[in-house]
Amino acid sequence: MSKLLICDPVDASAIDEMRAAGIEVDVRDDISQEALSSIIGGYDGIVVRSRTKVGAALIDRATSLKVIIRGGVGLDTIDVAHAKSKGISVQNTPAANSNAVVELALGMMLTLARHVTRADAGMKAGKWEKKALEGTEIAGKTLGVVGYGRIGQMLGEKARLLGMTIVAYDPFVEHPDIVSLDALLAASDYISVHVPLNKETADLLDAAAFAKMKPGVILIQASRGGTVNETALYEALVSGKVAGAGLDVFTEEPPKSEAVLKLAALPQVVATPHIGAATAEALERVGGEIVTLAKAALA
Ligand code: NAD
Repeated sequence: MSKLLICDPVDASAIDEMRAAGIEVDVRDDISQEALSSIIGGYDGIVVRSRTKVGAALIDRATSLKVIIRGGVGLDTIDVAHAKSKGISVQNTPAANSNAVVELALGMMLTLARHVTRADAGMKAGKWEKKALEGTEIAGKTLGVVGYGRIGQMLGEKARLLGMTIVAYDPFVEHPDIVSLDALLAASDYISVHVPLNKETADLLDAAAFAKMKPGVILIQASRGGTVNETALYEALVSGKVAGAGLDVFTEEPPKSEAVLKLAALPQVVATPHIGAATAEALERVGGEIVTLAKAALA
C-alpha cells in the first residue's frame, strides 16, 4: 500500500476519499521541517501547501518519494528541478484558489476606499469619526492588474462588473487590456499584483515604479512576498504617494523583522496573514484536486 504524508492542512473529506481509494494517509499537518526531514524517507507521496518548504536537502532524504502534491499554485517553495532530477513528479492545483484570492483583493480595495478598518477601530474606541472618514468609490476608477493570468484576469472581469476600467501588464499574455508597465503605473488608481515570484518579478514594483504611479494610488499585494519591494512601499505610504495598501503576503511569513512589522502596522495598511486561499470553498476545491492527483500517482 502506498504511503502519503499530509504536511499542511487539507480538507477532511479529501483525506477520507484517499483512504477509501486504498492509500495509507498519515496526517501531520503542523509538522516541523526537522521532523519532516527525519520521516520523509518512509513515504511515497507528500502533500504540502505554502508553509512546508521542499528544498534539495529534504528531497535527498526522500528515498521512496514518487510525487510531491502542492495544494495551491506557487511552486516557489519547492525545488522542482531537483525533484525532477530524482524522478519525483511535482503536481499542483492551479485554478482551485483563484476566486478566493480575487474576492480578498476586491475586499481589500473596498475596505481601503471606505476606510473600513479605521472606522471600525474608532468605533471600538468609543469614537464617532464620521467627518474624517469620507471615502471614495471604486466605480469609475482604473484598476491596473500586474500579471494577467488566472487570478489577474478573474479580478479584471469582476472589477469591470463593479464599474472599473481595467488595464493590465503581462509580457506573456495577449489580451485587449494589456498595456506597458509604465502606462499601467501612470493610469491606475488601484494596482493589484498577481505575478509569480521569480528573478524577473523580484522587486518588480520598486522605488522607480512607485515614482511613476499616480499620487494617491492604492496597492494590493496578494501574490508573493518580494514582488513588491517592502522598503519602497513603506516610504511611498509614509510620503502619501501611495494612499493605502492591502497586503496578504510578505517577504517573511510570519514577519519578524522591524522593516516588515512597521509596514503592517501603518494605519493606511490592511494586512492579513496570507489568507488569500483560505476559504472553505477553496479548501474543498483544492482537496478534490489533491484526491485526483494522489489517486493517479499512488492508488
Ligand atoms: P498564473 O500563472 O495563472 O498567472 C501569473 C501571471 O503572471 C502569468 O500570466 C504570467 O505570464 C505573468 N507573469 C510572469 N512573469 C511576469 C512578469 N515579469 N511581469 C508581468 N507578468 C508576469 O498564476 P495565478 O494562479 O494567477 O497566481 C498569481 C500569483 O498569486 C502567484 O504568485 C501565486 O503564487 C499567488 N497566489 C497567492 C495566494 C494567496 O494566498 N495570497 C493564493 C493563490 C495564488
